[in-house]
Amino acid sequence: MARKLLLEHINVPQINTLAVYREKGGYRAVEKAIKNMSPEDVVEEVKKSGLRGRGGAGFPTGMKWSFLAKPEGVPRYLVCNADESEPGTFKDRYLMTHIPHALIEGMIVSSYALGAKTSYIYVRGEMMPQIRILERAIEEAKAAGFLGKNILGSGYDLELYVQPGGGAYICGEETALLESLEGKRGNPRIKPPFPAIAGLYNCPTVVNNVESIAAVVPILNIGAEEYAKIGIERSTGTKLISASGNINKPGVYEIELGVPVEEFIYSDEYCGGIANGKRLKAVVAGGSSVPILPANLILKTAKGDNRLMTYESLADGGFATGTMLGSGGFVVFDEDQCIVRNTWNFTRFYHHESCGQCSPCREGTGWMEKVLHRLEHGHGNLSDMDLLVDVSKKIEGNTICPLGDAAAWPVASAIRHFRDEFEWHVTHGEESQTGNYGLAHYADPLEPVI
Ligand code: SF4
Repeated sequence: MARKLLLEHINVPQINTLAVYREKGGYRAVEKAIKNMSPEDVVEEVKKSGLRGRGGAGFPTGMKWSFLAKPEGVPRYLVCNADESEPGTFKDRYLMTHIPHALIEGMIVSSYALGAKTSYIYVRGEMMPQIRILERAIEEAKAAGFLGKNILGSGYDLELYVQPGGGAYICGEETALLESLEGKRGNPRIKPPFPAIAGLYNCPTVVNNVESIAAVVPILNIGAEEYAKIGIERSTGTKLISASGNINKPGVYEIELGVPVEEFIYSDEYCGGIANGKRLKAVVAGGSSVPILPANLILKTAKGDNRLMTYESLADGGFATGTMLGSGGFVVFDEDQCIVRNTWNFTRFYHHESCGQCSPCREGTGWMEKVLHRLEHGHGNLSDMDLLVDVSKKIEGNTICPLGDAAAWPVASAIRHFRDEFEWHVTHGEESQTGNYGLAHYADPLEPVI
């Protein structure tokens, strides 16, 4: 059984309450940090652990913290990005729902490390139950002396607030989130300046994902060295993966980074194999924003090595033959799934969610959606694939925020790996919606595919 650091007590009745959370060792990390460590010690410990951002980009968390400007007399802020809206990703919601104190404890330790006296959890506006759960947990923590004035008699003060999000996917982009938190429309800001210099209310700010902040708790509890021993290379520790699609056991799993993708898909400990005895066709490994890979390339790299659930292994081969760990939204497609239809669906989402500030994203996502729509509905032509690649290239790298890239990559990768299926839609017209393409992208369970 893989080691669990965040979900170890997930099945304990009432682990959402402070009393049971404390019975299971909760708030030890706060006591350790505030009573025995300086803020700099905590930052150093997180750096040593090798923790990388769990929201998608994978930037080292300790290094991000060390970039925070500390001008005299200016407040600093920690903002938790709980605006989880990436299609296929639901692990932060799961953690907040079932073990809210893991996030609250992580927020207290992290705020202490950064010298923040006011911190925010910006929760996706649609997640009203989670907002109430967190507010209740904050009240409990405050009543127990873990929040508010003079925490545990240390002289350190911290106020923690929950802010409902603005109801847009783009508010998960850190600068759009800060705009929204300030009460404005959630438009991404041009960087630099980065939030570490000029963030919330123009003050130095760190924005971290829910899981990244919660992971600080086990790092302090077991020690950075022990944490860094879990995983492989620069992918240390454990990671929450939300698994969905055509699998026998969809759900949220905590993996030790480094587990082979094949084991993750087929073993009973995780996804339990492809549902209904079907064959694996493709996987989106890290939320809808990352390149899609066909079965052969998700199970093994182009060099023939087993593909592992790590930042490095999933990216092996670059975008030609690799993808990204991203947010950990692992979506599995069986042989009956239509890649063209799914690509159109993803693109429809990005077009809808584009904030419209930059032309390549605003116009490009709209054109890609239109072309994919006509392909999917049997009205496309054979030059449409090159047109889509051309538009995706014009978006990629030419926008204010990463939503442009997020919209371009799925389209470009779908055509790279499944061009024959797009062509099939052109040549078979309306029949393309039947779902059976007779194309060789499948992998038989547990058989070598390269
Ligand atoms: Fe807005 Fe898209 Fe530009 Fe991001 S890339 S700022 S979402 S228009």
